[in-house]
Amino acid sequence: MKKVVIVATGGTIAMKKDKSGKSIPAVSGEELLDSVPGIREIADFEVVNFSNFASCNMKPENLLKLANKVKDIFINKDISGIIITHGTDTIEDSAFFLELTILDSRPIIFTAAQRDASEFDSDGPRNIRNAARIAVDERAKNRGVMVSLNEKIFSALYVNKKHTSNVETFSSGDMGIIGYADIDRLLFYNSQKSKFKFDIPDNFPTVIPILAYTGMDSSIVEFCINNGAKGIVIEAFGRGNVPPELEDGIIMAIERQIPVVITSRCHSGRVLPVYSYKGGSSRLKDFGCIFSEGISTAKSRLLLGLALTKTNSCSKIQKIFNSIIS
Ligand code: ASP
Repeated sequence: MKKVVIVATGGTIAMKKDKSGKSIPAVSGEELLDSVPGIREIADFEVVNFSNFASCNMKPENLLKLANKVKDIFINKDISGIIITHGTDTIEDSAFFLELTILDSRPIIFTAAQRDASEFDSDGPRNIRNAARIAVDERAKNRGVMVSLNEKIFSALYVNKKHTSNVETFSSGDMGIIGYADIDRLLFYNSQKSKFKFDIPDNFPTVIPILAYTGMDSSIVEFCINNGAKGIVIEAFGRGNVPPELEDGIIMAIERQIPVVITSRCHSGRVLPVYSYKGGSSRLKDFGCIFSEGISTAKSRLLLGLALTKTNSCSKIQKIFNSIIS
């Protein structure tokens, strides 16, 4: 029988209601496995209890540890795949980080739940079962890091939580799903993988995401510059446009060798230098801003952080962003 490692990190999937009826961490990795009838007929499992917290705690230091843990597990060539149970809130960040740092053809599947383990119809057990099916399937190799919930299989590159509570919460927008775990068999449609990989660094540089809003000035950017930011991500409007008063802060950051990445608050599409009014995306490009190529703000923050471990040249970092997708 194939061997699969389940790395439990926490999230609602591993929570139960306390006396006041609110969800708190409660379930170990072993208990998660035991909640899935028949799962031991799919594979031999080894459990790693990495953490048991809500995913708002998954800070960069934890991501570095998680990536190193996955790398260590894969030293054993008998392991067919790894399942990582995680909170839905930041699962897309962690999956993306591993996609950028793990070079191995074997499947890594993140899964989670919207309904905790004390709900009579928790979605956790079914999601774990489907993740196990993916982990032992030869066709799941070479598809990059995946996120699977509610039967759907997504690439780490584009997946995004869309609904705060519904079990049908994840979407990859225009990019779509890469597979589907139907009841009779798994279907794989395509794969979406990063073309660029990083070594796992020892430290993660401070990168601050900033939300653009109408009427804002440059003071938040100046605050970041003066408080140790090594990189800044600005979630702009539409094609990558910001309030005119933000230009001064952006110019100041770039002059101080702090790269600025422009993302969009739109869920699909790329930012592109097409407007040349003050604050327009074309001017930001001329100042030296990096355009995110459709990578979300949360993920751009991680990608910029990893890129900064190699260079702080804006043109080189732009090439890295371009090469993720091209
Ligand atoms: N707040 C939870 C978390 O991200 C949500 C979940 O797991 O679905 O840990």
